[in-house]
Amino acid sequence: MSQPQLIDCHTHTAFSYDSDAGLDEMYGRAEKLGISVYAVTDHCDHCCDTPEEQLIQYDFEFERSEYWEDTEAAFRAVMALKEQEADSPVKILNGIELGEPLQDLKKAERILTRPYDMVIGSLHNISGFPDFYFLDFSTMSRLELREVMVNYFLELTELAKWNRFDTLAHITYPFRYLKERNVSYDMTYYDDMIEQVLKILADSGKALELNTSGLRQKIQSTLPEERYVRRFRELGGELVTIGSDAHDPAALGTGILEGYDILRRAGFRYVAYYEHRRPVQTAL
Ligand SMILES: [Zn+2]
Ligand SMILES: [Zn+2]
Repeated sequence: MSQPQLIDCHTHTAFSYDSDAGLDEMYGRAEKLGISVYAVTDHCDHCCDTPEEQLIQYDFEFERSEYWEDTEAAFRAVMALKEQEADSPVKILNGIELGEPLQDLKKAERILTRPYDMVIGSLHNISGFPDFYFLDFSTMSRLELREVMVNYFLELTELAKWNRFDTLAHITYPFRYLKERNVSYDMTYYDDMIEQVLKILADSGKALELNTSGLRQKIQSTLPEERYVRRFRELGGELVTIGSDAHDPAALGTGILEGYDILRRAGFRYVAYYEHRRPVQTAL
């Protein structure tokens, strides 16, 4: 049996607030690794395209790059790279990670007028709260924590229903940070809510993303973990995408082969990427 193509459909560059990696540098790494499909999916979070003065409330720790979440510039840069590398064996896809679109629908609609190849939907923070990355769980009671988590899955359900994306990313995102901060939790408590999200995706023909970033982090599992991928399949889910969520060249392509094993065990025979917003399935 021939080796499956190496596909990485969730990656960032310095056009994202939390990455310093140049697009050329990331592309060079993709070429070196023999990646067949490389999707650039820089962030557009609820505050992207927002003037600096209005961002003070978010208190970012990161130093902003020159192109801090300038989605228009990111789009043009990836277009230019595609043109320049038209003969390359690496298929470059122009994507975006549209975070929290329901928190600014007008902006999301504006972003979606651009002819992206692939749109990732994601949720990094619940309304009125900062990204889970910034949350101080140590000051929360068990009850408060549970409320935050329930609200996360409620908002994720609304996002799944909105459905203007191609694939829904890292649906167990908050658990990454609970693990990082040594907060104990019972993931199964949220199983019914997660199942509802999976069912909406399956019924609407949207893809579930297997995000492999967790394999190189403290949580030591994909987001979501294997049993949810299997459940998605059981619920009739047919499309899955995969991505390293790399923010630097060293992380590009990591965990993809391991992720393929998880997808196969969960009953999938194909993994998808999106070109001109249409799924292309490749054999696993
Ligand atoms: Zn994300
Ligand atoms: Zn990401």
